[in-house]
Amino acid sequence: MIDCSFGEPERGKGMPIALVVHGGAWPIPDDQVAPHQQGCQVALASGWSVLEAGGTALDACEAAVRYLEDDPTFNAGTGSVLNAEGDVELDAAIMDGQTLAYGAVVNLHRIRNPISLARSVLVGPATMLASDGAERFAIAQNIPLCDNKDLVVERERLLWQQWKANCNASLLDLKQTSPARSSPQSAGHDTVGAIALDVHGSLIAANSTGGTPFKLPGRVGDTPLVGCGLYADVLVGACVCTGWGEAITQMALSRRAVELLEHRISPQLAAEHMVKALGRRVGGIGGCIVLSADGRVGLAWNTPRMAYAYRVEGRPTAWGV
Ligand code: ASP
Repeated sequence: MIDCSFGEPERGKGMPIALVVHGGAWPIPDDQVAPHQQGCQVALASGWSVLEAGGTALDACEAAVRYLEDDPTFNAGTGSVLNAEGDVELDAAIMDGQTLAYGAVVNLHRIRNPISLARSVLVGPATMLASDGAERFAIAQNIPLCDNKDLVVERERLLWQQWKANCNASLLDLKQTSPARSSPQSAGHDTVGAIALDVHGSLIAANSTGGTPFKLPGRVGDTPLVGCGLYADVLVGACVCTGWGEAITQMALSRRAVELLEHRISPQLAAEHMVKALGRRVGGIGGCIVLSADGRVGLAWNTPRMAYAYRVEGRPTAWGV
């Protein structure tokens, strides 16, 4: 019989503070390794300074993800991939492992830092807001709107132009010609994410993305979906995913990784198992970060590279691409 007797955590009693961030899993080209590495390290440092000063996991995750959203290297906020119509369209979510509450925002335009809007949604009364409604909520929360074009970088504009030139598809044809149906290796996918444990006993998971390149307008991937792109339960741990959102959603990957922690599987084995299952079961590609409630880290990906950095109190910082 499976042991499900995970007890109440005793956080704050000798449990370490911890922060894990990722900057996406995809065939990161050699010339983009350094900026990915640097971005993850700086994001980690900005979240870590919050945790170290006794701040909350919520503030630490928001700080880390905001940094990655502002860094044009990554597919989140500024620098996001463009959809089939050449627009930036953003999704983000944040989940509180103590209350199991979440805030998610989808199909956003004109929001520079979707993670901050997701954090506002976490307070309620809605749990997920889309598009115009999310924009109106942002205005009510005094979150400034930008011009959507301000989020577009030259690199992505050129990639979109190349794609458009090779693809004379009408909108109706896009289902067949979207990257989800063509070579997944051909396109980048570097959603960003973070998981933090704080001194107060909170566990938070957060992520933010521009989605998949040249996606159908209105398409939503795993990132803002609880149990798919992210899940956090302070009784056991949290998981945040990156990669092909349709496949990650089919697998309910993050919830299943956390379920493995419930069965006392280590975070590293849980991450490896779920990424293998993603590939085997639905041919999905991507990666995930896992953090257990007692501060153990797991990382796995089946893409050529994944950018990450993490730190657990009392141990040196680790990073890699
Ligand atoms: N998971 C994201 C999505 O499918 C993409 C990514 O991880 O880069 O929207």
